Amino acid sequence: MSGRISKEFIDELLVRVDIVDLIDSHVPLKKTGANYVARCPFHVEKSPSFSVNRNKQFFHCFGCGASGNAISFLMDFNHLDFVEAVEDLAAFAGLSVRREQATSLVDTSKKEDLSSLYQVLEQVAAFYVEQLRVTPKAIQYLKSRQVKGAIARDFLLGYAPDKWSVLSERFSQKLLIEAGLLVVKEDGQAYDRFRSRIIFPIRDKRSHIVGFGGRVLDDSLPKYLNSPETPVFHKGKEVYGLYELLAKNSKPQRIVIVEGYMDVIALAQYGIYYAVAALGTATSQAHIDLLFRFSSELVFCFDGDRAGREAAWRVMESAFSSLKEGRSCRIMILPTQHDPDSLVREEGVEGFVQRMQSAQALSEYFFDYVTNGLNLSEVEGRSQLISKARPYLERLPEGTFREMMFSRLQDLSGMASLSGADNKFIAQQVSLNKSHQQAFNRLSSVRVAIALLLQHPALAEVVEQKDIDWTGLEFRGIELFKSILGIILDKKSVNTAVLIEHYRDTPEEKIVTSLALLDVYMDEDKIETVFSDALDSLLKQARDASITRLEAKARSHGLDAQEQTALVNMLTMK
Ligand SMILES: [Zn+2]
Repeated sequence: MSGRISKEFIDELLVRVDIVDLIDSHVPLKKTGANYVARCPFHVEKSPSFSVNRNKQFFHCFGCGASGNAISFLMDFNHLDFVEAVEDLAAFAGLSVRREQATSLVDTSKKEDLSSLYQVLEQVAAFYVEQLRVTPKAIQYLKSRQVKGAIARDFLLGYAPDKWSVLSERFSQKLLIEAGLLVVKEDGQAYDRFRSRIIFPIRDKRSHIVGFGGRVLDDSLPKYLNSPETPVFHKGKEVYGLYELLAKNSKPQRIVIVEGYMDVIALAQYGIYYAVAALGTATSQAHIDLLFRFSSELVFCFDGDRAGREAAWRVMESAFSSLKEGRSCRIMILPTQHDPDSLVREEGVEGFVQRMQSAQALSEYFFDYVTNGLNLSEVEGRSQLISKARPYLERLPEGTFREMMFSRLQDLSGMASLSGADNKFIAQQVSLNKSHQQAFNRLSSVRVAIALLLQHPALAEVVEQKDIDWTGLEFRGIELFKSILGIILDKKSVNTAVLIEHYRDTPEEKIVTSLALLDVYMDEDKIETVFSDALDSLLKQARDASITRLEAKARSHGLDAQEQTALVNMLTMK
C-alpha cells in the first residue's frame, strides 16, 4: 500500500475509537467520577495519577505530565512511530487504513524504483545463500566458528564467490549499482563489491533486505566490508540483527549491542537472541532511540582495549540525550583478549548474562570517567569535575534521572548547590513563572475561551450564533481560536482528541495540549454561559487593542479606506 494516510481517516478514527477501551486493554482502568484512573504506565508510582477522560478522548498523568490522545498512547506505550500507531489503532477499531492516492507521476515511479531495488537485494541474497551451499571452504569456515545450520538459515548467511562479475552476469547492472553491490571505476567499468566473503544480509524492521555486510574467511583486510549508503540503506539508522531479534521476541527485556556481525551470530548460537550490532559506524543517537522503542534496557558491549574504551565514551555521548527514568543503559567492558564470541564460549550463557547484569550503569561509568585522574580533595579537582560533567548533564531530558545525576555531581563536588548557573537557572524559572502568571491573568479570557472550545467542540455553535466580524481583529490567541473553530466547523463530528491531532508536531501543539487539560471548574449547565462571557470579553479586548492600534496609526501614518471602515465599525460596536 502506498500513499499517505488520509487526514480525514485519522479524524474519523479518533471519533470512532474509545480511548477508555483502548487504554483499558493495555492498562486496567478504574472508574472514579468522570474519569478512569490507573497507575501510570510511563513512570513508576504507588498511587494512581494517570487519568483517562472519555469525553475528551484524552489521557493525562499528573505525575509525569504524559498526555495525549489514543494515537499518542499507542506511540508511547508500544514504542511505535506515528504511522504504525495509526495502523494499530485502526486494527483495534476494526477499520482498514485509508490512504491518499499518490497524485504525482514522479512519486509513483520513485516507489517502483525502490521496490525493484528491494527485489534485486532479495534476489542477490538468495544467490549468495545458494553460493554458500556449494562452497566447501565457506561452510568449513562457519563450522570452525561453530555456526549451526539453523542459525545460518535464520540470518540468511551466504557467500560471495571469489569472482569479479558474478552479479552483473545475472542481474540488472543499473539496479546493482543503485543497490551498492557494484563498485564503479573511473573508466566506467564495474565489478562486484563483495568477493570471497561470508555475507550477512541486513534487514530492516519490516523484513526488507537493505544491504549486506561481508567478512573475509582469513585474516586479509579489510576484515569487514559493508554496503555503502543507498536509497534504502542508511547506516546511521539501521542495526544488524534487529529484524531477527524482533522475529524471536517483539518485547525483549534487554538488548545487547555488540561490535560485529559474528558477535551477533555467536550469541544467537548460545540462545542470546537479543544482540544487535551497529553497521561499521559508531552507535548514534538514532540507533539508541530506535532500540529504546523495543526495550528499556540496553547493554553496550566493548572490547577491553583502548579503542573499546574510546568507543564506550562515544556511545555515552550519544546516549545522554535519550536517557530518562525508566530507561537503563549499561556499559560492559570485556576482559582483554576476549570478544563476545570467545567469552560466551568460555563462560557459558549464564556467565555472560551475569556479566551483563552486573555491568556498570551508564551513570556510574560516566562519573568514573569524569573523575578519573582528578583529585577531589582539592578545590581545583572538584571545579574541574564540574566543568567536565555539567555540559553532559545539561543535555539530559528534564526529569527525575536528570535531577539525580545533578545531585550526584553535587555530592561529588561537595557543593551544596551548583551555584552560579543553578541560581541563574532558578532565577530564570522564577521570572518565567512570573511572566507566565502575568500572561495568564492578561489572557485569561482567551485561555478560557480556547480551553472550553477544545474541550467542548459543540460550543462552536455559540460562536456561529454571534455572527462575529473578525476583520481587523488582531489579538494574541485569536488566530488559534479561529483555527480551532475552523476545524470544528469543517467536520461532521469532532472531539478533543481530533483537535489535538491537528496540532501534532506544530508550534501550537504544546499550548493546545495544555489548554485541553486546563481545568475550568464549573457545572455542566454553566459551560455555555461562561464560554459566551469569555468570548465576549475576548472580543472586547481584541477590539480595544485594535482600536488603540488603528488610532495610533491614524495619527502617525494615516489609515487606508479598509482600515477606516474597520475602525468605524469597531467604535460603533463598543
Ligand atoms: Zn506518569
